[in-house]
Amino acid sequence: MKIEVINTGSELLTGQVVNTNVAHIGERLIALGLKVFRQTTVPDGIDIKEVLAESIHRSDVIIVTGGLGPTQDDLTKEMLAELLDLKLYKDDEILEQIKIRIESNGTKMRDINIKQALIPEGGLALANENGTAPGIYFKNSSSDKENHIFLLPGPPKELLPMYDHGVEPILVSLVKNFTNELPLCLNHFFSGMGESELASQVDEITSSITHNIEFGYCLKPGGIILRCIGNPHEVKTVSNKVISQLDKYYLGEGCDSLPLNIISLLKKNNNTLSVAESCTGGYLSNLLTNVSGSSEVFKVGFVTYSNEFKNKLLNVNEVLFEEYGAVSSDVAISMAEGCLKSSGADFALSITGIAGPSGGSAEKPVGTVYIAISTKSGETQCIKKIYQTNRILFKEKVAMTALNLLRDYLFI
Ligand code: ATP
Ligand code: MG
Repeated sequence: MKIEVINTGSELLTGQVVNTNVAHIGERLIALGLKVFRQTTVPDGIDIKEVLAESIHRSDVIIVTGGLGPTQDDLTKEMLAELLDLKLYKDDEILEQIKIRIESNGTKMRDINIKQALIPEGGLALANENGTAPGIYFKNSSSDKENHIFLLPGPPKELLPMYDHGVEPILVSLVKNFTNELPLCLNHFFSGMGESELASQVDEITSSITHNIEFGYCLKPGGIILRCIGNPHEVKTVSNKVISQLDKYYLGEGCDSLPLNIISLLKKNNNTLSVAESCTGGYLSNLLTNVSGSSEVFKVGFVTYSNEFKNKLLNVNEVLFEEYGAVSSDVAISMAEGCLKSSGADFALSITGIAGPSGGSAEKPVGTVYIAISTKSGETQCIKKIYQTNRILFKEKVAMTALNLLRDYLFI
């Protein structure tokens, strides 16, 4: 089934607004094992007509976003009607609902709002829970190819519920007509191995099985997503085989599964954890405490941003700052050991680094980070990484690396 997305909006092309609608639609489709085959962005106004004219000859499903508003540059419905020679009629019931919504906001209904109650003949209105303009579903049988056309509003808060409640159920029934069965998409998260290593292993493991599964790889902070799309039975069989052979590296479904995996391993091993963070500013503690039930194993998270508090709370000797600097393996180790001692946990992780964009040097460039782990059995280890990216992604990558370091100790 060929699915195409057309986004309208001049602001999407001038960079004022990021096209989150296509991201949402793509994400929802992939969860059903479906994919967007083509996406086009056009400015407000009449340009939509040209793209629609092309798409009706090549796509089974066409999802258009934006241009359903009351102003004169909102022309999506009008252009579809012109292209397919459809009459637009005023739906009085919808007009009444629009009036109620507008007046409930203390505003007066204006003539230009009438445009929003126009429905192409043969079209079905899709309810808008968060705005005035209804969406439209139209099955076009007049061209060489039958298409299912959805016109959705531009504002994400209007589009998202309409997509979930209005569009997705129709798509699900269409897919069943096409293939009898919905494809399955599973996203397995692996860590501790590189992308090419994972791909080679997956090829090797699956080479003896006949299947039609489409594999995809996507690098994420802390690991790699292996996406498997295909016939549900095949996807499950092949997934089970891959997971059982790469058990040590498998974290779970979805890329938020590393913290989840760590918490469950800590529980399983009856261990507790504390963390001491500098440059990640509590991000690691946040990831851990996002997992329900983390209170059973997570004891304390210190955010010791200043040297003063690395000393006061973690007992890091001030001499280390002078001799090696706050971003050093010596300070990271001392932070981890101090954290372990003061919290009485079985494991302590510490992080000290330079998130940037300022503060780097030739010896320690921006992105340098030291991550240490200290264990109750008296072992301490420190690793150094350099992640040159923005501050937010830096925090994410560092926190995930710290969790992976701990995982090596927990996965016995
Ligand atoms: P309105 O009644 O608000 O005019 P509309 O259906 O005509 O609704 P647009 O005018 O195309 O929609 O877009 C309205 C606003 O919605 C835009 O200014 C933008 O902020 C947001 N928007 C539109 N399209 C997208 C998109 N693809 N991704 C994210 N936001 C979008
Ligand atoms: Mg508009």
